Amino acid sequence: MHVDIITVVPGLLEGPFSHSILQRAEDKGLAKVRIHNLRDYATGKQKQVDDYAFGGGAGMVLMIEPVLRCINALKAQRTYDEVIYMSPDGEVFDQKMANSLSLNENLIILCGHYKGVDERVRQHLITKEISIGDYVLSGGELAAAVVTDAVIRLIPGVLNDETSALTDSFQDGLLAPPVYTRPAEYEGMKVPEILLSGHGAKIENWRFEESVRRTKERRPDLLEGKNLE
Ligand code: SAH
Repeated sequence: MHVDIITVVPGLLEGPFSHSILQRAEDKGLAKVRIHNLRDYATGKQKQVDDYAFGGGAGMVLMIEPVLRCINALKAQRTYDEVIYMSPDGEVFDQKMANSLSLNENLIILCGHYKGVDERVRQHLITKEISIGDYVLSGGELAAAVVTDAVIRLIPGVLNDETSALTDSFQDGLLAPPVYTRPAEYEGMKVPEILLSGHGAKIENWRFEESVRRTKERRPDLLEGKNLE
């Protein structure tokens, strides 16, 4: 999978993709994230990428021209499944969307900044708009990093243990059960006996029950219309 992220603050994105699982995905040749500085596509001496909003008001707006030039340059290299704009008024990101995005081959993600981007970009170039929640960030970069991380870890082979992603929260509509590691007892605090029993089926059953209990307690909304028999 190729993810091309367009930003005016590339520095904000350098960290998240050079560590841990995302770096491993790249090393294994399973996913490649490239960061594109919108300023490189600006014309004129000033390399201007934003301007005042028509009609007045505070805040700058990203201009259509550099965005169009950047997207066209990328489209000349490969065919994209989606051209995504990160935006607080987009469709709210969840595990289901992460699953379906992970089936794509090539994605462009445009990060807004300041007041956002000229509406004509959204109307004519963007195919999907994603919000990571009902709050406003100062730019789309952190949101793009969240989406990219959640999507890339689902690509087969990225996680060392193939089944790991399947047992995470939300994947089966439930929250994950509690997990423990050594030591089995620490200053009087014990790990549940069943986990030390070596009895696979009973452990599975315990985990399922704990998942259900935790979901009922914390996110009863996830259980609506669900038959847990
Ligand atoms: N004026 C806009 C907010 C601009 S915030 C509005 O009220 O809708 C600047 C940029 O940050 C946005 O263009 C978007 O790319 C990004 N951003 C802010 N909050 C976000 C969120 N919850 N999800 C995804 N992107 C977000």
